[in-house]
Amino acid sequence: MKYQSTRNKSICVDSAWAIKNGISPEGGLYVPTQIPQVTLDDIENYSRLSYKERASEILGLYLTDYTKEELDFCAENAYLPEKFGSENTAPVASLTDTLNILELWHGPTCAFKDMALQILPYLLKKAIEKTGEDNQVVILVATSGDTGKAALEGFKDVEGTKIQVFYPVDGVSKIQKLQMTTQSGANVSVCAVKGNFDDAQTGVKKIFTDEEYKKALSEKGYTLSSANSINWGRLAPQIVYYFSAYCDLLKEGKISKGEKINIVVPTGNFGNILAAYYAKSMGLPVGKLICASNSNNVLTDFITTGTYDRNRNFYTTVSPSMDILISSNLERLLYHISGGDDALVAQYMSLLSKEGKYTVNEDIKKQISDLFYGGCCDDNETAKTISKYFEKFSYVADTHTAVALNVYEKYVEETKDETVTVIASTANPFKFNQAVISAISPETSFDKVDEFELLDILSEKGNIEIPTALSELKTKEVRFTTVCEKENMRDNTDKFLD
Ligand SMILES: *Cc1c(COP(=O)(O)O)cnc(C)c1O
Repeated sequence: MKYQSTRNKSICVDSAWAIKNGISPEGGLYVPTQIPQVTLDDIENYSRLSYKERASEILGLYLTDYTKEELDFCAENAYLPEKFGSENTAPVASLTDTLNILELWHGPTCAFKDMALQILPYLLKKAIEKTGEDNQVVILVATSGDTGKAALEGFKDVEGTKIQVFYPVDGVSKIQKLQMTTQSGANVSVCAVKGNFDDAQTGVKKIFTDEEYKKALSEKGYTLSSANSINWGRLAPQIVYYFSAYCDLLKEGKISKGEKINIVVPTGNFGNILAAYYAKSMGLPVGKLICASNSNNVLTDFITTGTYDRNRNFYTTVSPSMDILISSNLERLLYHISGGDDALVAQYMSLLSKEGKYTVNEDIKKQISDLFYGGCCDDNETAKTISKYFEKFSYVADTHTAVALNVYEKYVEETKDETVTVIASTANPFKFNQAVISAISPETSFDKVDEFELLDILSEKGNIEIPTALSELKTKEVRFTTVCEKENMRDNTDKFLD
């Protein structure tokens, strides 16, 4: 299996190169040249396997330049029960006969990003060997909060790598900020950017595509790579858990072999839902892909109208990991459904960068509205949804998961579609404790309550256990306090690599 660039398909590389480079030199994203197919019998066979075995099987279909032994090793070490709480890496909680929550946040940093970022360092280390790379690989990350911590935790003290994370100074929760600024490890650096996530992401992309700068770094012994979901090594592991959820439902008799499920994903950069699209395209029986957004509803409008327009207000919401107006991975979807029309994708992306908007042709628009349903909800609705699911099911959903639940309800209301549904639950509620506890106890004000007291209150009220990774932040030393202008991000990279 080869990987080609969405903006120039004559660029064609093995998966190890795609993973090491992160992004194609001309700014396109690597996509597989074909989408591997699985049968219902394959899926039935996967249902007898553990999560890490499922991961090795499914990754093996995409990363064909890795051996079975290599992938087994990567999956085995990434999904250790010590790191994910149990052998059941991504458990499914069923609230009703049709409503199932795929909990993707049992990893070390309490967000779904761990599902990919615990395995990416292993895949990348192998990629370094396979491509004969002598330089140190420097991972640059722009984060809306969760990727940063998950990437730091995955790459800390990984030999042959260094990692630098940029986060929007006022765009992350207090817990998220502490998670990053207290990060341990000799090869890590964290920097706040005066701007929003899109500014941070644009800054990192700029560094990545500056050929002269990359050449200068190479002479100093460094090669850049990415741990954002623009890296194929991030996306491929995310495909696994949609299969895994299906397998679990099948095994428990909640669905029959071949029965379709709907999947709802709270979406920001379009990575997680794109992984669900790949799973569906591979043959996983999936009906609708439901794309849930917060008030930054650029994707809802895109799915409905065919026009992607980022020229709009940017809102800071209680679901900050979805406060994004440029959903990078949409580019991959456009490539696939346009039948690999790299010139067309390049044209749309150039319009996006110059004018902040583009409109897809009728054919693409039609395919998108067949595949996806797009919906959104504001902070008020998010809070009401958290409260409702707590009252009704004693289930504590985080703010991002609540956006998905709310949009799911709107979808069912509109369509009366009663298909068995999987909601991708992307964060542990403790990570967004302030918003969650305020939703559950709307009569009390928690504005002045200390972050760690909030953990205790949420634990008691919600009857859920505080993850040690969060409670221990209280005693950790803050190591990183640098704040930079969005124009000066590169200076910080220089300092870090000096
Ligand atoms: C990153 C993130 C999202 C958005 O996922 P994308 O792959 O960017 O669409 C949603 N929820 C949480 C908690 C996240 O960390």
